[in-house]
Amino acid sequence: MSEREGGTKMKSGEGGKKPHKNKPTSKKYKLYKVTGETVKRNAKFCPRCGPGVFMGGGLNRLHCGKCRYTEFNKQ
Ligand SMILES: [Zn+2]
Repeated sequence: MSEREGGTKMKSGEGGKKPHKNKPTSKKYKLYKVTGETVKRNAKFCPRCGPGVFMGGGLNRLHCGKCRYTEFNKQ
């Protein structure tokens, strides 16, 4: 996946036509795929903030970035 951002591609074969402006945003939106709903499902919700706030963390601990609640996993 290595698309270059070709800003101004001008074919020297066609003459007479004005170089129309490309919409700069149309191509960029394709590059950014929304992966918000396909996050890891093993993420846990924060017990303080409730559902909607995922907890991230390290190997054996979970950390809420919102209220900074930290929970340790016991195994
Ligand atoms: Zn929280």
